[in-house]
Amino acid sequence: MIDDVFCKIINKEISAEVVMEEKDWLAVKDIHPQAPVHVLIVPKKHIGGLGDVTDENAESVGKLFAAANKVADKLGLKEKGFRLIINQGEHGGQLVPHLHIHLLGGKPLGPKIVRD
Ligand code: 5GP
Repeated sequence: MIDDVFCKIINKEISAEVVMEEKDWLAVKDIHPQAPVHVLIVPKKHIGGLGDVTDENAESVGKLFAAANKVADKLGLKEKGFRLIINQGEHGGQLVPHLHIHLLGGKPLGPKIVRD
């Protein structure tokens, strides 16, 4: 059984602040926000990460971007803009092995890429 933290939130085994929800995805506030708005868009069907995206599940993954756009609209981020981030694997800094899009906004977000 897959029991990462997002599966537990989806199964209501642990609580989270839900911003928006549809049949196939959930948008929750990040527990450690890195910006005034920091929401995670999470597919309800478990996908381990970008490394598990295939032609077969690409359509449902694509809908997560539409979901992010809806959440951004609901939270009033569309005029000033926002940023989406997906971390993949160890070097990408992925901590939770369940695909999720970080939606960040509410202030100027600084450099797009942190350089050494
Ligand atoms: P990753 O590094 O995998 O891309 O991001 C995982 C994110 O999940 C982190 O930003 C972290 O703060 C968030 N997170 C971890 N545990 C929980 C939790 O129990 N609840 C919520 N809402 N967010 C969590």
